[in-house]
Amino acid sequence: MSFEKFNLHSSIMAGVRALGYITPTPIQVRAIPSIMQGRDVLGLAQTGTGKTAAFVLPILQRILQGPRGQVRALIISPTRELAEQTCEAIDGLGQQTGLQSLAIYGGVGMQQQIDGLRSGAEIAVACPGRLLDHIWKGTIDLSHVEVLVIDEADRMFDMGFLPDIRSILRCLMGQRQTLLFSATMPDDVRHLVQEVLH
Ligand code: AMP
Repeated sequence: MSFEKFNLHSSIMAGVRALGYITPTPIQVRAIPSIMQGRDVLGLAQTGTGKTAAFVLPILQRILQGPRGQVRALIISPTRELAEQTCEAIDGLGQQTGLQSLAIYGGVGMQQQIDGLRSGAEIAVACPGRLLDHIWKGTIDLSHVEVLVIDEADRMFDMGFLPDIRSILRCLMGQRQTLLFSATMPDDVRHLVQEVLH
């Protein structure tokens, strides 16, 4: 199978080629068509399988249409490192799309992130604690989020982020597409899946 089969926009295909991807990985083959149809998806995949592009490509395709300059996709990551890696993947794959991503995590000043949000990023990749800080301060507007990704959900629970995730979920529109990725499926993750995925 080739990437052409997904019918991604030419500006996105330019990013795929620039990164040297030739053949989609198994998780990409299975997840990308369903996500592009707007369905909620549960992906059981570890790092190294190509799971990031499996959700980034359909997200780029979706938000290429519609308004710019507002956060329309929110990706929740357990760690700063993963958030930065995900932003790098978005910047690489989306390099010809004009869409902007922003990493949001703690341990650094908030102002730079506030400026990034004001400059109109469409995709926010955020760690739970700092995201809640922005929500409580009113410095992030989540009212336009139409796609939510919970990435590495099992790690998120190991790190005690479950209550934060639930608080974040309460701030999002009910009508949205939700994608959840996890390497393993412990009970906590299974319960969340039942609650948030349609
Ligand atoms: P991930 O599992 O998302 O962390 O991706 C692992 C690595 O595989 C990253 O360096 C990606 O850039 C790369 N990658 C993802 N999809 C493909 C693909 N279809 N072909 C080649 N490399 C890929």
